[in-house]
Amino acid sequence: MKKKALNIQCPKCRKEYEIPEDLYNKDVRCSCGYEFHVTPPIIFNPPYIVSICDVLSGLMIAAGILGIIISAFLGGGPAGIVISFAIMVSSIGPYILGTIIYYLARIEFNTRMIMEKEK
Ligand SMILES: [Zn+2]
Repeated sequence: MKKKALNIQCPKCRKEYEIPEDLYNKDVRCSCGYEFHVTPPIIFNPPYIVSICDVLSGLMIAAGILGIIISAFLGGGPAGIVISFAIMVSSIGPYILGTIIYYLARIEFNTRMIMEKEK
């Protein structure tokens, strides 16, 4: 596996370097003699539960559509259609929950970044 490399510029002479992952958070010395700290990029990763909510919501829509088709063509009656439709509509629940968790995590992440910058 190829290691992630970070493109970094010497703050003094502006010379560009590709810094391998093992030098993250370490001090490096540029050819101009200037020493600086390698700060790795911090990427926002949404919490795992968000993907679970998305998958659950997708499954509910699929189950609902499947249920409607089965009820309509293979004979599940109007009750089957209503239940399937209800499952489809309630898929909005996990979807909204996932979206809320995503944005809360995003806000928390941004706040943490701002606070770290002000340190
Ligand atoms: Zn330099």
